Amino acid sequence: MGQCVWCGSKSIFLSVDKNSLCSKCRSLINFDLQQRLRIIEESQEIIKKTSNFKTLLHRIDTILEHLQALRTYEEKNISTITPSPSEFEKILLHKKDELINDNIVQEVGKIMNKARLGLTAKSKINEANKAILLITEKRNELKSQEKISNFRTHDIRLKKLLFNQAFIVSFLLQKAKFLCHWEQEPSFD
Ligand SMILES: [Zn+2]
Repeated sequence: MGQCVWCGSKSIFLSVDKNSLCSKCRSLINFDLQQRLRIIEESQEIIKKTSNFKTLLHRIDTILEHLQALRTYEEKNISTITPSPSEFEKILLHKKDELINDNIVQEVGKIMNKARLGLTAKSKINEANKAILLITEKRNELKSQEKISNFRTHDIRLKKLLFNQAFIVSFLLQKAKFLCHWEQEPSFD
């Protein structure tokens, strides 16, 4: 007796395909799959061409959304794409995380260059603080995207980044000195 793995209908007259789908579900799923594949391919094309980081992340998220939808088929052993939606998702999440990480390094580098060129200690500290703020913000972004197992690696990577930036540390020290000075000799004007 044939039983459809998707709609659950069963009958001795029901014929199912290699994915255990009845003809009605097979055509519905095929249609859904074609729509999603079209959007995934479009997004991949945009990812290849864009130089805008926000667009890049947005398109990765679009693909991830559709992969999550395709995973419901995978859970019922219905084959859709190769690599499987869950494998593809894993690869893409890893890639996304790397991109965010690289972007942080790049953005922090830009700010630190500005800090080096800063004319006054105050402007240098401002830039150094901007870098710290950026790292803190983006690190949260990384965490929200990643599974617990990945948290540690990136946390360590970012902490290294933070501590390796001797520049940031030296400016924070300057800032601390400045604050101490202010606390000892408060200005009343
Ligand atoms: Zn069915």
